[in-house]
Amino acid sequence: MSPSQSSAPPERVDILVTDAMIVTMDAERRVIENGALAVTGDRIVAIGKTADLRARYEARTVIDGRRFVVTPGLVNSHIHIVGEPLTRGYVPDDLTFEQNVLDWLIPVHQHYTPADERVSAQLAALEMLRSGTTSFIEAGSLSALDEAADGLNEIGIRGRIGLRIWDQSTTHAHPARPTDVAIRLLSDELERYPVRNGERIGTWPTLVGHFVCTDDLFRAAKLLADKHKTGLAFHMSPAANDGEWYLQKFGCRPIEHLADIEVLGDNVVLTHVVHVNEREIDLLAQTGTSVSHCPTTALKVAYGVTQIGRFPEMVAKGINVAIGTDGNNASNYSDLMRATYLVAGLFKDARRDPTIFPAEQAFAMATLNGARAMGLQDEIGSLEPGKKADFVFHDTHRPEWRPLLNVANQLVWSADGRGVHSVWVDGVRVVDDYHSTRIDEEKLYRDAQAAGEAIIRKSGLPNKAKWPRV
Ligand SMILES: [Zn+2]
Repeated sequence: MSPSQSSAPPERVDILVTDAMIVTMDAERRVIENGALAVTGDRIVAIGKTADLRARYEARTVIDGRRFVVTPGLVNSHIHIVGEPLTRGYVPDDLTFEQNVLDWLIPVHQHYTPADERVSAQLAALEMLRSGTTSFIEAGSLSALDEAADGLNEIGIRGRIGLRIWDQSTTHAHPARPTDVAIRLLSDELERYPVRNGERIGTWPTLVGHFVCTDDLFRAAKLLADKHKTGLAFHMSPAANDGEWYLQKFGCRPIEHLADIEVLGDNVVLTHVVHVNEREIDLLAQTGTSVSHCPTTALKVAYGVTQIGRFPEMVAKGINVAIGTDGNNASNYSDLMRATYLVAGLFKDARRDPTIFPAEQAFAMATLNGARAMGLQDEIGSLEPGKKADFVFHDTHRPEWRPLLNVANQLVWSADGRGVHSVWVDGVRVVDDYHSTRIDEEKLYRDAQAAGEAIIRKSGLPNKAKWPRV
């Protein structure tokens, strides 16, 4: 007997979305036409045909989904929510990687106040939510953990955040913390914002990485991540200089060294990983380490991703490759759908092979692989009963969504985050009709503009805009 023929009384649920096209991203990658989604509290109760779910459930709120394609919330595996959002676009786009980081990004970052960090975190979160991203891993940019966490909790996004930690300086201008102080800060943040208990916002050890962390700090961060059942994230090998430094200091490549000191593992996410060799890829695969591929940064800061990047080989070896947008002066936007488009396309062209990263695979990297990188593969990344109710309405009443003939191609090649109409996180509608339900967006824009101008003023950095303002 099918459920619709059952004589059992309907079960009460909070939300029933009806008549939508539902992209489940489940194991069979089912796309359910005339689909329905039932939610109670923060969890998905059922997914199926509208007629079946209407017979089985009585909802407090029924939402007509005819206009929408429903997908899981996307997962941004690397974003700087402070440091860069409030100076977005001020840094020139014709600098080398070293100039970009040392002469511009680090100096502007130092002028953020705690209040600025709250505004910055909300601006980044608003851009993510409104473009369909419901979860993120922060890059380790924060100084004011409490203010940022408060702003994120208000806006309703899911994230893993952490203080900006390093203990080895390469210039006198950017002094490092002593190793013991750095380790104490990591331990303290993990105690104060634990990821257990299902909290949307929790901390991870998020190191700067590269060659500005000692072995003692790397090891301590990994032990803390293991102990607290969190992830560990850091940057490695976007450009050639990390590899050169490790070769000179240790006589081996960066990822070989990280393997030697036992800092790799299935709770570790390395960001960029553009300059790697075959042996390093094998070590990442053997240890189950995830990689965050940030294509927009690579393009803008000229990493050579399409010439020497080895992301197709990583995926072929079973490495979990997720997608990130990075900072707003390295990438300038936080719309993961735009980054996913690049992931799908860059290596097709570079290798002259259209079979690399088809749309279905690219979208899985933006959802399932991101969830796996966060250690939340059982909670988010697909729409399945028992998982968190983190889902997105893509508005098909838009020119780029018509005609709708192949939804995977549409999501990756035609649409972007600007077509996101509504978003739920933990069963709560945090975006409705293109706007946050939780904060005053106009006020946030005014605050962001004022804070950004003040940070630039304090930094003393020159205005390098090439068009005259008259
Ligand atoms: Zn980064």
